[in-house]
Amino acid sequence: MEPNGTPQPNGNHASDKVSKTNLLTAATSSPQVTEDHSPPLSAANGTTTTACTTIKASADGQLEVDTKGKAANNFRNYVNSEQQKRVEKFYTENHRLQTVESVQQLQKKYLQFKLARMSMWDCLEYLDSLVDESDPDTENSQMQHALQTAEAIRVKYPTEEYDWFPLTGLIHDLGKILSAKGGEPQWCVVGDTFPVGCQFSDKCVFPQFFKDNPDYKHPVYSTKYGIYKPNCGLSNVTMSWGHDEYLYQACVHNKSKLPMSALYIIRFHSFYPWHKENAYNHLTDKQDETMLHWVREFQKFDLYSKAHQKHSIAELKPYYQKLILKYFPPIIEW
Ligand code: FE
Ligand code: FE
Repeated sequence: MEPNGTPQPNGNHASDKVSKTNLLTAATSSPQVTEDHSPPLSAANGTTTTACTTIKASADGQLEVDTKGKAANNFRNYVNSEQQKRVEKFYTENHRLQTVESVQQLQKKYLQFKLARMSMWDCLEYLDSLVDESDPDTENSQMQHALQTAEAIRVKYPTEEYDWFPLTGLIHDLGKILSAKGGEPQWCVVGDTFPVGCQFSDKCVFPQFFKDNPDYKHPVYSTKYGIYKPNCGLSNVTMSWGHDEYLYQACVHNKSKLPMSALYIIRFHSFYPWHKENAYNHLTDKQDETMLHWVREFQKFDLYSKAHQKHSIAELKPYYQKLILKYFPPIIEW
């Protein structure tokens, strides 16, 4: 797919105001680079190269992606990818089982944060064996996907002012601990997300599978607005349950210092019907529209950095461990 949005690495954080309804915490802005904590980037000159993908920041600050054999529009292929059967089976279940009721049950179960106590980095290592069944683009482990995303972001956003962004790339999928530790099946952990409690959009992947969802014919949940008011804002919308929402809630629960832009990325990076297809705009508010830029900016790193070359975990660990402690307590309640 086409990368969306114009990157603004020098944009200010004026829009990153704290919203009380969202319980989001704002990071203290550090515009001056006083110390360089960075290990060497994957390659010199702001370019990172992997076996099939080259990502570099050009002089005008645009992200250039050369996928070497895998054209940009070959990502998110839900028609005939090598993983088609696995992905289709996944979405049959996901679209059937994500209901208002099942989401409420999962919220009740996991928002007590009694699952585990471990550091962000230990969680990354813990998840290393997981392969995401909903993903047609990679069979890499979660650790490599995390490092590829983080390092691709760091090429374009190398300064301390934006250090929250590579960190967000590193941790964005840690909510998948729901599967690895919680033992939850993948239908309620991974895949694209969408609101429950209102009409499912046909801009979701495999929209035909929603016909087997009990909410599909519900007198209220099947209507355009369902249980929501027009443009009520995504903070008032219940999303299908998965690693996005869970990690966002864990960030709030553990009092992370990440800026609102990072929390939006974490919470809505799988909400492709919104950030890629412009669906559900009848539910979003001004704050969502402002934050959409960052979700889109993140999305291309999440997607296009999926490649086959592996980063050295040992080399990158000290840098990211230090960065984690800038924004999170040493032990996270999961
Ligand atoms: Fe994800
Ligand atoms: Fe991801």
